[in-house]
Amino acid sequence: MLESLKIISSTVRSRSAAFEAGLAVPLVIQPMKSARVMRLRFDAGRGILKLTCPARINRQKAVAWAATQQAWIDAQLAKVLPANPFAPDGLIPVEGRDVRIEWDPAARRMPVLEGDVLLCGGPIEGLTRRIEKFLKRRAVEVLSKETAEFAIQAGVIARSVSIGDADTRWGSCSASGRIRYSWRLILAPPEARRFVVAHEVAHLVHLNHGREFKALERRLYGPGLAEAKALLRRVGPRLKRVGRGD
Ligand SMILES: [Zn+2]
Repeated sequence: MLESLKIISSTVRSRSAAFEAGLAVPLVIQPMKSARVMRLRFDAGRGILKLTCPARINRQKAVAWAATQQAWIDAQLAKVLPANPFAPDGLIPVEGRDVRIEWDPAARRMPVLEGDVLLCGGPIEGLTRRIEKFLKRRAVEVLSKETAEFAIQAGVIARSVSIGDADTRWGSCSASGRIRYSWRLILAPPEARRFVVAHEVAHLVHLNHGREFKALERRLYGPGLAEAKALLRRVGPRLKRVGRGD
């Protein structure tokens, strides 16, 4: 499986340092004598994560624990991002480009992507559902094609490719060779999406994150893997807001 964000440096001296490391937000570790357990808080005003931990816990352990809290961290980040519903004149990312939703009741019901405009017709009722359907269809198409390409390079076959809307994972691969992706990857820049595909296809060969797995993942993706991974981390919280109004 692919953790949506690996984490997190130790105490970060400047915010830009954290971003360089590919983080969505900096983490500040505060050892406290009185603390009995580790506790993570999100300071929305300053845009930082604060981790308090018992004084005896070393930094590496604290960071490793924070890394297991990824779903919670993403949820906090998503809350402070503006809503991004599928609404007329709204901007949504499609394959990493901002696309404007143009609604014309006289146009075709099923959305059509023309350059930077997503032309949507039919009644306003069901517009959200139709846009989501359009994006999911495109996601299946693109992800199936890329999975097949990487699988040929790896000399394996994916038994099936499907999509879902898991909040905590961008992709997963079963022992029986079935790969499942988040449909939201179609919103992401292509290099970030392809990183997830290379990662899951590498799992068709190695169901772990060991050395051989990492070598295959690197070979499949080619140069720029670390950058693609960091990019996905940065844009992830926004992608999870798309199509959600609250
Ligand atoms: Zn994995």
